[in-house]
Amino acid sequence: MLNQRCTKCGQVKRATAFRRQSSSRTGRETICKACRKKHDAMVKSMSFGPLPEPEGSRAWVEEIWRRAEIIRDENEQ
Ligand SMILES: [Zn+2]
Repeated sequence: MLNQRCTKCGQVKRATAFRRQSSSRTGRETICKACRKKHDAMVKSMSFGPLPEPEGSRAWVEEIWRRAEIIRDENEQ
């Protein structure tokens, strides 16, 4: 079994600690399962779901502002 270095945390781990990815040259993802899990959770929390109804409500406005802040933060990086 080959070991592989995670490009995210830099740790060398067993190939089984990486998810299979047929499109990858090594047949495995370049980041380990632990980092993938964290990454997915981060993406999920950042993802923009449908806006709350009704349009113009307080929840709707707050969601618009939340998204605007995320976009602004991304642009500043
Ligand atoms: Zn990792």
